[in-house]
Amino acid sequence: MSALPVVAILGRPNVGKSSLFNRLAGRRLAIVDDTPGVTRDRKEVEAEIAGRPILLVDTAGLEEAAPESLFGRMRASSEAALERADVAVFVVDARAGLTPSDRAFANWLRRARRPVILVANKAEGRGGAAAAMEAFELGLGEPIAVSAEHGDGIMGLMLAIAEHLPELPPEEEEGEGEDGAEKPLRLAILGRPNAGKSTLLNQLLGEERMITGPEPGLTRDAVAAMWSDAVGPVRLVDTAGLRKRARITKKLEELSVASSISALREAEVVILVLDALLGLEEQDIRIARLAEREGRAVVLALNKWDAVEDRAAAKAALDDVLEASLAQLRGIEVVPLSAATGRGVDKLMPAVRRTHERWNRRIGTGALNRWFGTMLERHQPPLVDGRRLKLRYATMPKARPPTLVIFGTRAELLPQDYRRYLLNGFREEFDMPGVPIRLQLRGTE
Ligand code: GDP
Ligand code: GDP
Repeated sequence: MSALPVVAILGRPNVGKSSLFNRLAGRRLAIVDDTPGVTRDRKEVEAEIAGRPILLVDTAGLEEAAPESLFGRMRASSEAALERADVAVFVVDARAGLTPSDRAFANWLRRARRPVILVANKAEGRGGAAAAMEAFELGLGEPIAVSAEHGDGIMGLMLAIAEHLPELPPEEEEGEGEDGAEKPLRLAILGRPNAGKSTLLNQLLGEERMITGPEPGLTRDAVAAMWSDAVGPVRLVDTAGLRKRARITKKLEELSVASSISALREAEVVILVLDALLGLEEQDIRIARLAEREGRAVVLALNKWDAVEDRAAAKAALDDVLEASLAQLRGIEVVPLSAATGRGVDKLMPAVRRTHERWNRRIGTGALNRWFGTMLERHQPPLVDGRRLKLRYATMPKARPPTLVIFGTRAELLPQDYRRYLLNGFREEFDMPGVPIRLQLRGTE
């Protein structure tokens, strides 16, 4: 019945699939009803990942007992689940290490033509992350170290899953300013626990409305806030940083993180708060990529700049990671600041406004096609199957995010590197750093 994206959890018995299933599925239930076993016996459940409904399928229990051909039976029991899956989550046990059936299963999965997310479970405690790295050998990319039992790494896993969910249909463009009233800019402030989101928010709102504290994970309870910057009204659509309360459980913390990720979809611009002492870590990159995938513009707030000793080195390291891991958002605005002292915070909203303006910008067909002509002259589109592709013209039917449509004979066959050439050229010519850009190619006869 449902067209929900399907996420299947696969792996040999006892690696912790059911525990992970409960973690991913039970988060909402966990708050209203903390009784163990609420979802334990269910093999399928509708769950929410980064604000999107999915169907979570557990293959645990399908392959109970009996030794002879473990891999054979794993495969048989997983085949059906994998068939329907949009994303496969393959779980191994970081404590027990890899087994021959893990390896055989991984080989089989690699040929399944489904996105596979490799999870090394039971990686809690000291040495857990290191043990998880052994799973690299499976050739399924970087393992995500988690502890289903303790909840570590679950947010990273959710982000990784979210990256692979099918794209949502494009949002309806909002009629702007029809009633003359100025629409508030919709902003989300995201980042890891303890990056300084709440402290930053206090600065932006100009008053100590919230309590901040040194303990990680105090942040919760998404609430919206309105204020005005120099340009106009701003609506903070959601953020875990909006309210803090002492002594909350891990589960609640995770829930609030998940809900702030879903807030990303409501926002136009996302401020990703980094702890400059830690740099841009995998989880930050995942948030930024997810924002890009969802078509949101991103500004980086490089917080705790006051505590950084070698600023040049910190900046260089950040630039390297940006270039290597976030080329989709090339040129993204980075604002070093100290939320604690307030220094540099005044640069943040102007950067947000500039980015928002780019994200909103429409470019006339004339200017667009003059640029397009130059690009084609500089480098002809390549041959495909011995025939040259003919690209004819470009349009920009929508902004928010900027969407470029190129028409031509067999245009849809255009190779990746030429697409990248066009995208980078477009970004440069029309000054759109830090903004996700959609490129569509349409064949004409
Ligand atoms: P499944 O057979 O793959 O569904 O695995 P289960 O979820 O039933 O877990 C198998 C065993 O591993 C159980 O005893 C769990 O308590 C344990 N387990 C699951 N996740 C973790 C974890 O993150 N850390 C540790 N130490 N044990 C775990
Ligand atoms: P959140 O979990 O992201 O909301 O982070 P908080 O705003 O609660 O900040 C976490 C910790 O980092 C607190 O102990 C803050 O005092 C500290 N912190 C926040 N901003 C800064 C800053 O600019 N410089 C320094 N040195 N510490 C900061």
